[in-house]
Amino acid sequence: MAENNEIRPNEEKKGLNFVQQIVADDLAAGKNGGRLNTRFPPEPNGYLHIGHAKAICMDFGVAEMMGGTCNLRFDDTNPQKEDTEYEQSIMRDIRWLGYDWGDRLYYASDYFPKLYDFAIRLIKEGKAYVDDQTSEQIAQQKGTPTQAGTESPFRNRSVEENLDLFQRMNAGEFEEGSRVLRAKIDMTSDNMHFRDPIMYRIIKKPHWRTGEKWKVYPMYDFAHGQSDYFEGVTHSICTLEFVPHRPLYDYFVRELAGESAKDYCPRQIEFNRLNLTYTLMSKRKLLQLVKEHLVSGWDDPRMPTICGLRRRGYTPQSIKNFIDTIGYTKYEALNDISLLEHSIREDLNKNANRVCAVINPVKVVITNYPEDKVEMLAMDNNPEQEGAGTHQMPFCREIFIERDDFMEEPPKKFFRMTPGKEVRLKGGYILMCTGCTKDADGNVNEIQCTYDPDTLSGMPGSMRKVKGTLHWVSARHCQDAEVRLYDRLFSVENPSAESETDFRELLNPDSLKVITNAKIEPYLAQMAKPEDKFQFQRIGYFCVDPDSTDGHLVFNRTIGLKDSWAKEQKKA
Ligand code: ATP
Ligand code: MG
Repeated sequence: MAENNEIRPNEEKKGLNFVQQIVADDLAAGKNGGRLNTRFPPEPNGYLHIGHAKAICMDFGVAEMMGGTCNLRFDDTNPQKEDTEYEQSIMRDIRWLGYDWGDRLYYASDYFPKLYDFAIRLIKEGKAYVDDQTSEQIAQQKGTPTQAGTESPFRNRSVEENLDLFQRMNAGEFEEGSRVLRAKIDMTSDNMHFRDPIMYRIIKKPHWRTGEKWKVYPMYDFAHGQSDYFEGVTHSICTLEFVPHRPLYDYFVRELAGESAKDYCPRQIEFNRLNLTYTLMSKRKLLQLVKEHLVSGWDDPRMPTICGLRRRGYTPQSIKNFIDTIGYTKYEALNDISLLEHSIREDLNKNANRVCAVINPVKVVITNYPEDKVEMLAMDNNPEQEGAGTHQMPFCREIFIERDDFMEEPPKKFFRMTPGKEVRLKGGYILMCTGCTKDADGNVNEIQCTYDPDTLSGMPGSMRKVKGTLHWVSARHCQDAEVRLYDRLFSVENPSAESETDFRELLNPDSLKVITNAKIEPYLAQMAKPEDKFQFQRIGYFCVDPDSTDGHLVFNRTIGLKDSWAKEQKKA
C-alpha cells in the first residue's frame, strides 16, 4: 500500500519533492500514454483556506512544472451543505493564487448518471446490495482492526430485490437513513474500508445543481476514484488520511475500468496536510465563527481563508513561498505560523512602498520654524528596490509623532524624544526637545522643539550623529485614517489539540484593535486604493481595506516589522 509511494533517494531528481518524483517516474516509464493530468477536488461547502492552498500548489503546480493539466472538480456529492456562493469563492481564490483550469471545470454531480449505472452494474454482478439497517447497526457490525466484522442479514438479497429497492430508494420511496447501498466485498478484511463500504445514501434535500432529480447520493469513496477515471486524471493527489482508502479507490476503479485499466489507471498519492499554529482549519468551525459573528465574515483578515489572507494583505507569492518552505512529506506536522508571517514580511519588505503614518499621535510644535512656511521633503519610496524613487512629504511648524516616542522622564537608553535631547526626523531635520505641556489630567498634549536648519540631507549638519530617528507627519497636511490592528485569532498554540475546551474560548481577545484617528501623510491619502500594500515606517506592513471610501481610508495591519509575538507572550 504505502510502499509504492515511498521516496527513492537514489533516483531522486534534484529539487523535486516526493510527489513530483513519483509523477516524474511515471512519465518516464510512459504510464498512461505519457499523459499527466491532476485535479483539485474541493467540496463547495465552505471557503478555501491556507491548507487548501497547499493542495492547490501541489495539484496545479506539478501539472505546470511537468507539462500536464489540472482539472478543477467540484466534489458536490452532498447537497446538504453545498452552495454556489462557495463555488464562486473557490474559483476566485484559485485564480487569485495564480492558477487556471482553462476549460477543465468539472462537477462530480455531472457523473451521477454514470455512477448510478455503475452501481446498477455492480448490483447485477452480485457485488452490491441494499441494507435496511440503520447507520448505527451497520457501525456496530464493522468490527475493529483486530476483530472481523459481522455480515449484514440483508447481504444475500437477490439481485432482483436489490435492483428494485435501489431504484425505489432513488425514486424517493424511502426515508433518509432507512436504507443504504453497500458494496459486497469482505467483512473480514484487514482494511476496515473493505468491510462492505456504503456506496449510496438517501438524501432528500434538493441539490444546488441537479435539483430534485436524485434521492440517492454517492459516498466519497464511491465517487472520487470513478470521477478521476471519467476525467482521465492520472495522478490523484490528496492528504494522508486517505492512505487507508487507497485500496478501495483502486478496487472501484478496477471494477469500473476492467481490462482497459492496463492502458490507463489513475493513481492516488498522499502528502501531509497543513496544520498551522494559532489557527483552526476545520471548515465546520470556521463556518461557526462566521455564523456566530465572532469574525466579520469568511474574509475577516484574521481568518486562515484565502480571502481572509488576501484582505489581510498577503500576496499569492508569499503564500506560495511559505508552502515551498514547509514542503510536502508523509508525516503529519504542525507548522509554525511565524513562517507564514516571515514569508509575507519578506515579500512586502521588497515590494511595499514606505510611507509615514502616526497611529497614536501627539502634536509637536517647532517653535523656531516660521508660522506659514512649508517645505517639501523627498522621502525614499523603497530602499530595497533600485529605481523606486522618492515622493514628497510636506514639513511645517506643527507635526505629529507617536505618543510612545516621547517621554518626559525616560529610562536610560531611551533614544527617542525627551526634553534636552536631540532626535532626527525621518527624511528631515534634527530637533531639540525643549519641553511639553499637559492637560488637566496630566496627559501630554503638546511637545515643543526647536529645529536645526543646517541638518537636512545634503547639508553639512546632516552628518551630525544623533541616536534615534522618528517617523512623523505634518499636522497641517495629514489626513485621518482608520487603522485595524490585527493579531493572531487564537491565543493558544494548538487550538485543535484543546479538545476539552470550547474552541471559542480560545480566541485571542486582542486579535483586533481599531484606531479611528491615525494620521497619514498626504501622498498615502491620495494614492491608496483597496488591496494596496505599504510599509508604515517603523510600524509594520499595512494593506488598504475594501471598506475604504472616498475620504475615509481603512488600513489593515498585515504584520509588524518584526516577530514580536514571543516577546509579548513572555510579558503577559
Ligand atoms: P471536508 O472534506 O472535511 O469538508 P476538506 O478540508 O477536506 O474538508 P475539501 O473541499 O474536500 O475540504 O478539500 C479539497 C482538497 O483540499 C482535498 O483534496 C483535501 O485533501 C485538500 N485539503 C484540505 N485541507 C487541507 C490541508 N489542511 N492541507 C492540505 N490539503 C488540504
Ligand atoms: Mg475533503
